[in-house]
Amino acid sequence: MQGILENLVQEGDCVIDGTVGNGHDTLFLAKLVGHTGSIHGFDIQAEAIAATQKRLEDAGIMGDHIQLHHCSHDQIGEKVPEKIKAAVFNLGFLPGGDKSIITMTDSTLPAIAQACEKCLPNGVISIMCYPGHAGGDKEALGVETFLSRLPHARWRVAKYQILNTSSPAPFQICAFRLDD
Ligand code: SAM
Repeated sequence: MQGILENLVQEGDCVIDGTVGNGHDTLFLAKLVGHTGSIHGFDIQAEAIAATQKRLEDAGIMGDHIQLHHCSHDQIGEKVPEKIKAAVFNLGFLPGGDKSIITMTDSTLPAIAQACEKCLPNGVISIMCYPGHAGGDKEALGVETFLSRLPHARWRVAKYQILNTSSPAPFQICAFRLDD
């Protein structure tokens, strides 16, 4: 995931982290967009929002250009006024947290659709799917089906999966928004 984002996201861009969790991805994005860019991060768990805020503060990066929204990512449409260069969704549960709180197809798909609506030409929507946990298989299939139906004239959608690992292996889907 990181190489693709490094190639596309530049200083000054606006990006979304749809599942901030422990803040690793948010910190990575914050370094790419710099202080002239902006980030909207989402998570339904206060614990995740706090962990992300702390990680950014410890790195000396937290500021007004980063907004952490303690709500579901299916509110992207309401909470993010800007067009975006990228959105990342790392699905599943919070590592080290309550494993029964997982992302759910019913909110994941609207969230991805809203991110797609906001995506600028030459931007990308990246989704990391984990079919190995209960519920994750249905969600992963839903994400793959939804993204494979994006119009070919406007999007290229690719799936990346490690094959030589235990099954069912996690996979990443990237939807690349073509130039107008
Ligand atoms: N990107 C994170 C990182 O770098 O540490 C890891 C994310 S973790 C795999 C998945 C996160 O999704 C959990 O923190 C969980 O609380 C969050 N989540 C679950 N349902 C959500 C929803 N509807 N909206 C936003 N976040 C959600």
